Amino acid sequence: MAELTADLLSDLLSRDPQRVWASACAVIRLHDPAALDELTRHLPTLERQTVDLELGGALFPSAEHLQQALRVLRAHRDGRCGCTVYPDYLFYNPEKEAQAGRIRILSADEPPDWNMNYRCQCTACGTEYAVEQGEYHYTWWQWRQD
Ligand SMILES: [Zn+2]
Repeated sequence: MAELTADLLSDLLSRDPQRVWASACAVIRLHDPAALDELTRHLPTLERQTVDLELGGALFPSAEHLQQALRVLRAHRDGRCGCTVYPDYLFYNPEKEAQAGRIRILSADEPPDWNMNYRCQCTACGTEYAVEQGEYHYTWWQWRQD
């Protein structure tokens, strides 16, 4: 197993809230198929080890980051496109996903504002999404397939 993958896995299994949180956030943005393959193989253990974990979180529950990391791995296991998990999580910034080449921004409100709308398309499968950007203590993005 690659070192990065081994680190991510041991952090996720550590039951240390800080390490689990950091690793979950990394897995959410992981698009390396080999690393995802490795982690997905440990999915049953990950689900078992984290099911009752109290992660805290003041503004946004850290458990949501962990749940999203597990959704990313389940999607990979089931052969679904990485974009299918966007609607389940509020922190996929369309600009960053576009910079990473995972989506294309087809249109965006002009001028840009805190509250604005994007239209995006997955570069892998072509699915289109309406993305609403909003602000409530933190900036969030709600992805909807339509
Ligand atoms: Zn896709």
